[in-house]
Amino acid sequence: MRIVSLAGGIGGARFLRGLLAASPDAEITVIGNTGDDITLFGLRVCPDLDTVMYTLGGGIDEEQGWGRSDETHVVKEELAAYGMEPQWFGLGDRDFATHIVRTRMLDAGYPLSQVTEALCDRWKPGVRLIPMSDDRTETHVVINDEQGRRAVHFQEWWVRLRAAVPAEQILLVGADEARPAPGVLQAIDEADVVILPPSNPVVSIGTILQIKGIREALERKTVVGVSPIVGGAPVRGMADACLTAIGVDTTAQAVLELYGSPLVDGWLVAEQDAGVGLDGVVVEARPLIMHDAGAAAGIARAAVDLAVRLSERQGRAGEEAR
Ligand code: GDP
Ligand code: CA
Repeated sequence: MRIVSLAGGIGGARFLRGLLAASPDAEITVIGNTGDDITLFGLRVCPDLDTVMYTLGGGIDEEQGWGRSDETHVVKEELAAYGMEPQWFGLGDRDFATHIVRTRMLDAGYPLSQVTEALCDRWKPGVRLIPMSDDRTETHVVINDEQGRRAVHFQEWWVRLRAAVPAEQILLVGADEARPAPGVLQAIDEADVVILPPSNPVVSIGTILQIKGIREALERKTVVGVSPIVGGAPVRGMADACLTAIGVDTTAQAVLELYGSPLVDGWLVAEQDAGVGLDGVVVEARPLIMHDAGAAAGIARAAVDLAVRLSERQGRAGEEAR
C-alpha cells in the first residue's frame, strides 16, 4: 500500500510514528511544511522537517517534542554573550550541526528536497520525506501592538510573542510563485490513500494546501483527516490563535469545514465531538489523544482503515458509473 501524509511538526511527527507502527509494510511519503522555515545566524532552519526527521529517526527530545535528545546549549550561550540577536529561538548544539550541513548544501546549489534526502540518509526515518516546495515560502503574521501594525515572521509571533498578540492576518509569502517539490504530485497521484494528520490546520496543513496543484491533486484521492481540535481546544499548542486569525472557530466541525469536501472524504473526531458532520464526508468518533506511541498507532490504524474502506467504496461506485 502507498500512503501519502502531509505533516507539520510535533502533531504530525507523533502521528507518523504511529502510522509507521500501524502500517509497517506500507510505502509512506510525507509532504512536510516549510512555511515555518527561518534563517538564523545565516543558517537555514526547517523546524517542521527536522521534527519529523528527528522523531522518526530516534533523535528527538521526547519531552519537548522538538529539537535533539541529549542536547546542550553552549553555542546559544556564547552567541548571547556577544549580544547576538535573536535570543528567543532555542537552537541546541547538536541541532546547529543539522542547520550548518543544510545551509552548506543549499549554498552549493542543491534544492531543499535533495538536502532533506541527504539529511535523512543519516536519520533513516522510514518514510520518504519531501518538503512541500523547493521554492522559498515563509509564513508571516500581521500584528498590531505598541510598536504599530506590522508583519513579523511566524516564528517571532509563535515563539517570541507566544501567539499572545492577536494575529490580524496570516499569509504565506511566496505562495503564488512556489511549485511543489519534485516527487510531491507524483507521490499523491500514485497514493492508495492520503492522510491529513492532526497538524495545525492553518500554518501546517493550510500552508501545504496553498502550494499550486497540491489541493487539486489531493481532491482526486481518498483523503482521511484526524482532527487536531478536541472538545473545542487544540490538544497542544496555540492553534486556536491561528484559527481565530482566519475567522474559523476552534472546533472539530469548523476545521472539517475549512478543509471541506471534496478534499476530505473521512474525518476522525474525538468521542466528545461525535455530532460533527458534513455532506460527502464520513465522520467517525474515537479516542484521539496521542498519550504514547501505542495510542498514536491506534489513531493511525483507524485513519488508514477508514481510508481503505472509503477508497474501496469509491472504486465500486466508479465501476458502477461506468
Ligand atoms: P507544530 O508544527 O509543532 O505546531 O505541529 P503540528 O502542526 O504538526 O501539530 C500541531 C497540532 O497538533 C496542534 O493543533 C495540536 O492540537 C495537535 N495535536 C498535538 N497532539 C495531539 C494529540 O495527541 N491528538 C490530536 N488529535 N491532536 C494533537
Ligand atoms: Ca510548525
